[in-house]
Amino acid sequence: MSLTIQIAHLYGNIMNTYGDYGNIVALRYYAKMLGIVVNDKVVSLGDPLVADEYDFMLFGGGQDFEEKVLAPDFRQKASIMQEYIENGGPMLAVCGGYQMLGQYFVMSNGEKISGLGVLPHYTVNQANSRFIGNITIKNAKTQEIYHGFENHQGRTFLGTGEQPLGEVISGHGNNGEDQSEGVIYQNVFGTYFHGPILTRNGNLAKRLLKIILNRKLPEKNWDTLIDPLPAESF
Ligand code: GLN
Repeated sequence: MSLTIQIAHLYGNIMNTYGDYGNIVALRYYAKMLGIVVNDKVVSLGDPLVADEYDFMLFGGGQDFEEKVLAPDFRQKASIMQEYIENGGPMLAVCGGYQMLGQYFVMSNGEKISGLGVLPHYTVNQANSRFIGNITIKNAKTQEIYHGFENHQGRTFLGTGEQPLGEVISGHGNNGEDQSEGVIYQNVFGTYFHGPILTRNGNLAKRLLKIILNRKLPEKNWDTLIDPLPAESF
């Protein structure tokens, strides 16, 4: 029987403006080369979240309005999410999803929405501007370079214990000021990159797949199996 990776697609039915489901497609593409099946399930408003059932979580991007709609439901899941994250649960949070993991998010109209509060970052607004365009960053630890597309009004500032996903080479990044983009906290990867990020950056997709599988089946040497796979950029 094939090994299976279970993915929770948080609010995937309302936070789907920028096609970030493609990140699941990318993980499925590389997992299939290893004979591994990837299943995904939307966990949205009013749905129970049993974190132990999942090996990975994706929280994609969306409009300010949808973030306001889901915020109360997401905060009700805070204790489950905090335990999952602090226990090293792997997750990719993109743009709006990334913003909502933090302390608060200010909408373009100035309305302040409380976030999950599990990660220390916070997001303030740009009343009449957006960061839109191609973006390239470099991760200081791995020296990997990632390419993507950003489209956000929010400006995010990292807090204690948070490292950026990368330093901006071109584009705006978290806030257009401190050259940071995204966040790495435990095994949570947050980013403003659409693309989707994992289809554009196979090196990052493989990195996340290693984290997922090393946590799920630590006795197997996944690096030797995953390193030789092609790192595509579609
Ligand atoms: N609505 C948020 C913003 O504009 C997030 C946008 C997104 O998910 N691309 O900053």
